[in-house]
Amino acid sequence: MANKSILVTGGAGYIGSHTVLQLLLGGFKTVIVDNLNNSSEIAVKRVKELAGDFGKNLVFHKIDLLDKPALNDLFSSTRFDAVIHFAGLKAVGESVHKPLLYYSNNIIGTVNLLEIMAKHGCKKLVFSSSATVYGWPKEVPCTEEFPLSATNPYGRTKLFIEEICRDIYCSDNEWKIILLRYFNPVGAHPSGYIGEDPRGIPNNLMPFVQQVAVGRRPALTVFGNDYSTKDGTGVRDYLHVVDLADGHIAALNKLSDLNIGCEVYNIGTGKGTSVLEMVSAFEKASGKKIPLIMAGRRAGDAEVIFASTDKAKRELKWSAKYGIDEMCRDQWNWASKNPHGYESSDSN
Ligand code: NAD
Ligand code: UDP
Repeated sequence: MANKSILVTGGAGYIGSHTVLQLLLGGFKTVIVDNLNNSSEIAVKRVKELAGDFGKNLVFHKIDLLDKPALNDLFSSTRFDAVIHFAGLKAVGESVHKPLLYYSNNIIGTVNLLEIMAKHGCKKLVFSSSATVYGWPKEVPCTEEFPLSATNPYGRTKLFIEEICRDIYCSDNEWKIILLRYFNPVGAHPSGYIGEDPRGIPNNLMPFVQQVAVGRRPALTVFGNDYSTKDGTGVRDYLHVVDLADGHIAALNKLSDLNIGCEVYNIGTGKGTSVLEMVSAFEKASGKKIPLIMAGRRAGDAEVIFASTDKAKRELKWSAKYGIDEMCRDQWNWASKNPHGYESSDSN
């Protein structure tokens, strides 16, 4: 696939920006479409710089997936070999209060994209699904065959989009689709030049920890210390964002297989880490003490979830290289250099 042209929706965002960098370094021509709803164009500029000479192969368009005519114009002027589709809203709590916003943005945005792709004969897709489609798994590790369920509207958008992808493949076998179920991406590029920069109060553990470490928030609230886990706190499968980005390159390569159809892969490390273990690894990496407030369980949270990684290893030839010490090292490197995210730098 190298030297092919890839459209990346949501490419200015956290996972998208890291993936775009790996694509450029791998020789792909890359076009980003993003409405900058939850991201900054500074990330795009920095990716271009990090890519050196390959940066010239990156083009950015501020387009909303709900603007179907604009998408159509883009596909009329540029031929794409495949699309990596990250664009979507992702805040679980917000989705509970604003379900229609999530259904409209995530599902209608995806249907628009798929219609325009089909119209222009581009039928190769990698989609960002999530481990959230396993709901509260009865056992771990989660294999791709586990029953699916959603516990909130955000999760339902992922479930529905997975089903839509299976349906379009059934209707037209020319489609080649890979659904990647990410576990918990954390960390940042080792340069500290790009990383996660959430708007408002972070929902996720590590962006919150990072903001406590730089003094933006006084303490981390730990949601539940009475689970039946090693230390009572919730267990997740944390994954370095650069490993996740590489997982997308592996998925693109897999799309060259003749009979890929519509396939799903877990992207995780296969290891479970508790909240307290993660905090302790971050304290070690940063030298900062993270004050903790023990609180009740967060509604909807699973107790323990981590991935079975066998299928991705076997079929994508992909597995995670980094552990939690590297994740925390790189998260801190990004946070300390950019305590206020992309807005930290006046030169941008
Ligand atoms: P992010 O918010 O940083 O990136 C998403 C990007 O999509 C943003 O830049 C946003 O501006 C853009 N976007 C949203 N709606 C759009 C629209 N209608 N048109 C154009 N652009 C739009 O999020 P992320 O963490 O990089 O996540 C990327 C994808 O991975 C999302 O689909 C998310 O649901 C999924 N995912 C993320 C995680 C996680 O923990 N970060 C876990 C599992 C799955
Ligand atoms: N968590 C926490 N405090 C926070 C955010 C998260 O204790 O401020 C816990 C949460 O209960 C879960 C783990 O950290 O056990 C990971 O949460 P996150 O939201 O990052 O991922 P998800 O629950 O969506 O997998």
